[in-house]
Amino acid sequence: MVPKCDYHIHTDLIGCADKTMRIPAILHKCNLLGMERIGITDHLNTLDQLPIHRQIKEQLAQESPKLEVYFGVELNFMGLDQGFAYSEQVRDELGYEFAIGGIHSAYGYQRDKDKCLAIQHRHHMKVMEDPLCDVLVHPYWFGNAEFEQMDWFVDMSIIPDSWIRELGAASAETGTAIEINGCAFFHNPIYSKQWKESYIEYLKGLARAGAIFALGSDAHNIISLSAIHTVRAIADELDLPAYRFWHPTKKTN
Ligand SMILES: [Zn+2]
Ligand SMILES: [Zn+2]
Repeated sequence: MVPKCDYHIHTDLIGCADKTMRIPAILHKCNLLGMERIGITDHLNTLDQLPIHRQIKEQLAQESPKLEVYFGVELNFMGLDQGFAYSEQVRDELGYEFAIGGIHSAYGYQRDKDKCLAIQHRHHMKVMEDPLCDVLVHPYWFGNAEFEQMDWFVDMSIIPDSWIRELGAASAETGTAIEINGCAFFHNPIYSKQWKESYIEYLKGLARAGAIFALGSDAHNIISLSAIHTVRAIADELDLPAYRFWHPTKKTN
């Protein structure tokens, strides 16, 4: 049974999601979509965004939602082979209940297939080994401007089997989940039908290697929250027991 949860949601406060993503509207919509547990995960690319994250936390505290709501954060590397703007101190100061993170750039190598893919894999493995990050977000997602230059990236069969096994095994070993992301891929028109189908095969390969998975819509507007249903349908195809799906744990203090 695939859990009814969405652990990747953006609000209007940081500015990447649109005005429809006000916190009360998000909670209402997720409830209508049948979600039981959700996580708010706005970007923390640099520490100067912390005051906005405090506002998000304060707004969440004012709500009495019908579903379980977690306060999370999405991390991004500060540059090629650099770290996240995140630490135990930041986590404890803000009271984050979980962190998701990953690579969001080709770092200028979008026309160099081998280098581009190697950079992605290297950063995926870095997330697996980071004890402060619970979920690797959207592996092999690229922004439109970069992806449009990747005529070599026809589908996911390009990814070496050995990398899929290595990433899946690392997930099993560290407990860091790998995300099944709705809006980055499956609701994104820039990726072809062939590409999306091959991505499901990629996820199946990770599942065979022992990976655990997190579910996320990555919605940036209220309509896109329904992408979680696509994510859940794909997760269902993986035919996994409940323990192979990741959940955050509630902070009690
Ligand atoms: Zn992201
Ligand atoms: Zn996101």
